[in-house]
Formats: sequence, structure tokens, C-alpha cells
Amino acid sequence: MSDTKSHELFINGKWRAGGSRATLPVINPATEKVFASVASATVSDLDEALASAEWSRKAWSSRPAKKRGEILVAAARILATKIEAAARDLSAEQGKTIAEATGEYTRAVETLEWNGRHAEELSAPIPMGPNRMIVPEPLGVVAAFTPWNYPAVLIARKLAPALAAGCPVILKGAEETPSVAVHIVKSLRQAGIPEGVVNLVFGVPVHISRHLLSSPIVKVLTFTGSTAVGKQLAALAAKNLQRCILELGGHSPVIVCKDADLTKAIPAISEYKFECAGQSCNAPSRILVARPLYGEFLSRMTEAVRKIKIGQPDDPATEMGPMANARRIEAMRCLTKDAFDRGARIETGGTRLDRPGFYWPPTILTGVPKDARVLHEEPFGPILTVAPFDTIEEAVEEANATDYGLAAYFFTDAADTQRKLTNSLSAGAVSVNYLKGVSADAPYGGVKQSGYGYEGGEQGVRSFQILKMVNGLSSFG
Ligand code: NAD
Repeated sequence: MSDTKSHELFINGKWRAGGSRATLPVINPATEKVFASVASATVSDLDEALASAEWSRKAWSSRPAKKRGEILVAAARILATKIEAAARDLSAEQGKTIAEATGEYTRAVETLEWNGRHAEELSAPIPMGPNRMIVPEPLGVVAAFTPWNYPAVLIARKLAPALAAGCPVILKGAEETPSVAVHIVKSLRQAGIPEGVVNLVFGVPVHISRHLLSSPIVKVLTFTGSTAVGKQLAALAAKNLQRCILELGGHSPVIVCKDADLTKAIPAISEYKFECAGQSCNAPSRILVARPLYGEFLSRMTEAVRKIKIGQPDDPATEMGPMANARRIEAMRCLTKDAFDRGARIETGGTRLDRPGFYWPPTILTGVPKDARVLHEEPFGPILTVAPFDTIEEAVEEANATDYGLAAYFFTDAADTQRKLTNSLSAGAVSVNYLKGVSADAPYGGVKQSGYGYEGGEQGVRSFQILKMVNGLSSFG
């Protein structure tokens, strides 16, 4: 008899297996062994989720926003008490260290709480002068698709603002990291979320998205993942004109200017880049260094990266765990080989580690020709390219030379250079002398092929609202 944990669907307020009883395996990326399973939804499970979300819509949208917010704040408190156990589950499923998983859950709690605290104010009518106002209204049922790299934060960034705005949600959690969606949905249920308002499904992603988006019940699509899949989903959503919030890939540059303080820049880049084994949409991936600093930067960065302690994610000494799945290892192999075959130099790393688990070491490539794939495709892993530049204009041109536009970073204290770079970098977010994750209170969204729409802060809630313009009222009473 198997003793593996089995994660269920949550439909219409009940935890249960999928209609066909089919399950998908959950693999520990540090051992490559199956250690759990997750239920796979059938078409009739999805229809039930659609019907229950639609059935719950009226009552949830007309519940006072303050009360909706109180449930989110209560769920945040409940989730906070479970972080230790939940972080262990996440680490085993995803491969990130326990410290990283704990930090991620802390941010998920903050996100639930921020949206809960602002639900009332962001649902209130907005006066527009005498006799005019904007009335925010919930858009309706949301289909939310979340990936495996930061499953806790990304679920919170979709669920919390949608629920605060008054929208029921059908969430497809990542099949690779099911425990995260289960912990968060259980916290919401314990906090009193009514039946049908949150439904959780897993299964074959392409079948689920196709079925949910073909339903006129769904009014909003929110997705985080690759640009290729985002485009497929946007095409499906076009049929019913569902609003889309697409948080897609990135290929973020860091410009290290000639006055940069390397004692700050190198640890900041190294820590943020190799968090979650580099599998973050806004991780830096292309470092451009002012030529006078290039030699010193490269040798100190290479030294720092070689010292990163790779190991089992549940070992407190580990600084970087394995990649999440075999697909990422293959992607690292192909990108490195392509760059090398075209003449790039591998300064460190470059081959899979010879041990069980999906381990790829921090890798630095230099002399990478402009047509190498690694300069155009999102690496989504622990690979960095480093190149020198002579003028700020040249650095900007290089920084903007991909189809992506999610995040960009630079290091300089010169105010005029800061202004120039802020204005000329094509990115949804620009950070100066600083690399950190997104916060609950700020809008975040990409440009170019990195997507459209916003998550986070006020704009994150507005993404799930209709802003109804009302003209000519006699009074606002
Ligand atoms: P993928 O594009 O197949 O999957 C990414 C995520 O999208 C997964 O959670 C998957 O379940 C989901 N997905 C895939 N096809 C779907 C569909 N038809 N309908 C609904 N959901 C679908 O790739 P992958 O191998 O799992 O991940 C690698 C790539 O995904 C990376 O190269 C990266 O570009 C991208 N990615 C980006 C983010 C991000 O934060 N922007 C997160 C995870 C993955």
C-alpha cells in the first residue's frame, strides 16, 4: 500500500478526488523520487467548479467589502501559524531552501493581509466632482493559473485582490507544488470563505485552461508563466473577451556603472540571482559592466558564485537547492551548449552536477555572441552572462535588446545617470542599487513580451473591477 500524500481538488466547499480518480505524480527535485500525488480534474469537475463559482458570485459580490477584507486578514493570520510546516512541504516539492520557502510564505501572508486591509477603501465609490462618480464593481468569476516557482506568493497575488474586489475564483494550482494551494485555500476556508467562492483544481493544464476559458461564466483570466503559454491563453480568452492579466517571462539586465560600489553590487546580484536556483521571472540574467570595472567585477563575481553552497534544500547550510524539474536542466544544457558552440567562454559552472536531483551550478558566461540563444530566450535558471560596455548609450541599447521588459536594475550614485537610465530602460520595474522581490503594496507588470495588466497594490485590485462611470446624480447619498 502506498503511503504517499494525496492532494485533492476543492470544489463547492468540499475536498475530493477528481471524478475519474486519476492522479498526477509529485516529484521531489532533490531526489527525483515521486513522494506525493495530486488529483486531476475531469471536464465534469471543471463544470462543477464553474457552476459553484457562478452560484456564489451574487452573494460574495454584494457582501460588504469590509467583511470580505476581514476574511482575508483572518486567513493571513491562520496561514502565518502554519508557515513552518507549509515551508517544509514547499521546499520538498519545489527544491528551494527552507529559508527561501519561509520567506516566500511570509510574503504571501503580507499579500493576503494588505488586500484584506484595503478591500473596503478600494471598493468605495470615487467622487469625480459634483454629480459624477466612479462606482467600482467586481468583474465576475476569475480563472487563475499559477506556476511552481513562487507558488505561495503568486497564488496570494491573484486570489487576494480578486476576493477583495468581490470576485469568486477558480484557481488552477501548479501540479508540481500542490501543497501550497492546498494550505492557502484551507486557510481561507478556516477564515470563513463561503462555499463556491474559491475552487481549486489541478490536472492537465492545457485541458483545464481550454475548458474554463471557453465558458462565458469566466470574466477574467489571470496567468503567470511563459510568454508562449500566455499568448495561447490570451487567444482563448479573446473568444469571450475575457479581461487578461498576463505576468510573463523576463530577461532582466543589470547595468553596473563605472562609479558602482562592487562591495554592494556583487552580493546584491548574487543573492537575488541565485534565489530559487534562478527560477524567477525578474531574476537578473544579463550583467553589463562599465569597461574600467569589468575585469575586477568578473573575477570577484566568479569567486562569489563559486562559494555558493549547493545542497539538500532542507539542510540549513544550503544556499541553493536543485532546479524544479528535469525540463529546466535540459533548458540549461541547451542554452549553455549553444552559447559555447558559438564561441562563448564558461567562467564557472556549465554542466549538470553528478549527483541525484536536478542540480545545475551557478554558471557565468562571457564573450557571448549577440545571436546566442541565451541572450534572447528567458534563461529561468542559474545562468548569468557578463559583458563590458563603453558608454551608457551602448549599455541601454544592450539592456533593451530583448523582446522582454519585466525588470531592469542598475548600480550608480550619479543622479543624472540614474535619471537617464530610469527614463530609457524598457521595463515594468526599474531598481537602483537594489535587487529584491515585489511587494504587496506596489503595482507590477511587464512591457513588450513580458505581458500586460498589473498585479499588486491598488492596481492589482482594480484589475478585477469594472469602473462604472456614473454621471448626473442628484446626490451621492
Ligand atoms: P510551461 O510554460 O509549460 O509552464 C509554466 C506554467 O504554466 C506551469 O505552471 C504550467 O502548469 C502552466 N501552463 C502550461 N501550459 C498551460 C496551459 N495551456 N494552460 C494553463 N496553464 C499552463 O513551462 P515550464 O517548463 O513549467 O516552465 C518553464 C518556463 O515557464 C520558463 O522558461 C519560464 O519562461 C516560464 N515560467 C515563468 C514564470 C514566471 O514567474 N513568469 C513562472 C514559471 C514558469
